[in-house]
Amino acid sequence: MAKELSDRLSLQEGDITKLAVDAIVNAANTSLLGGGGVDGAIHRAAGRELLAECETLGGCPTGEAKITKGYKLPAKHVIHTVGPVWNGGKRNEEELLASCYRNSLALAQKHGQKSIAFPAISTGAYRFPMDRAARIALTEINAFLDGNKEFEKVVLVCFGQDAYQSYLDAWKNLSKS
Ligand code: ADP
Repeated sequence: MAKELSDRLSLQEGDITKLAVDAIVNAANTSLLGGGGVDGAIHRAAGRELLAECETLGGCPTGEAKITKGYKLPAKHVIHTVGPVWNGGKRNEEELLASCYRNSLALAQKHGQKSIAFPAISTGAYRFPMDRAARIALTEINAFLDGNKEFEKVVLVCFGQDAYQSYLDAWKNLSKS
């Protein structure tokens, strides 16, 4: 299932490793040396060369982002960002998640990329509530697209109906405000 939210932003259900965009975003951990969830899926699909490049990067702080090549992925690059672990919301989690989206988009822009796909960062093992995460993702992506008219496409990849519905609800609420 796919749905256009605006001419440059769409929702798509399924596996982010299948998308042929300029960059897919990885919800990594601070080591950048692989993990479970989407991180494991991306490393499996990209092959061992991705891990070898990640080993040269020296990790990544929460909220920031680093770029590698895509190797065997259909995507040209991977932007690795580290989302916050949800701890009830009083440890700056919302701002850190917003930084993940801002920094990933800025890095894509800096490298001349025009299309990017995001998973729902922090909403798996890191337990960030999906509805809040969806609102933050859409707010940051909208602001970026408003300021960067030449950027062509942002895809929000939903791994399951829960994410899909949360993005749709967040989009309706944002459009009202
Ligand atoms: P985090 O540690 O940041 O929470 P996870 O990988 O555990 O990262 O989960 C982040 C989100 O990615 C979750 O919503 C999960 O359902 C989703 N996800 C897992 N595998 C994939 C995949 N192959 N493609 C897209 N999204 C995925």
